[in-house]
Parts: sequence; structure tokens; C-alpha cells
Amino acid sequence: MTDQGTFRVKCPNLSCRRLLAIPLHGRGQMVRCLHCSTQLKVPEGTNRSGRRPARQSA
Ligand SMILES: [Zn+2]
Repeated sequence: MTDQGTFRVKCPNLSCRRLLAIPLHGRGQMVRCLHCSTQLKVPEGTNRSGRRPARQSA
């Protein structure tokens, strides 16, 4: 369950909004949502390799 090689990006399609598992090497690239086929750009600066303790999640 701890995929260290992936991070999550939310689908921008308002009628989908699923969390997609993106491989780390996919940063900055275009990927396609598996659920609605919307193309989205993966942000490059998403570094969540477990450095912060998950404290602030309201
Ligand atoms: Zn989608």
C-alpha cells in the first residue's frame, strides 16, 4: 500500500475527480485519466516521499 514510486494527482474533470497514481518519473508530463480519459499535466514539484508527518489533514 505504500507505493514509494508513485504519487497521487486528482483528476481535473469535475465529474470525475478521481485520484490517479502517477509514477514519479511522470512528473511534468501529460497523462490520461483512466476513468474519464481527460488529459492532465502532472505537476513537477510534488515531492511527497514521507518527509512530513501527516498531521495537518483536516
Ligand atoms: Zn478523470
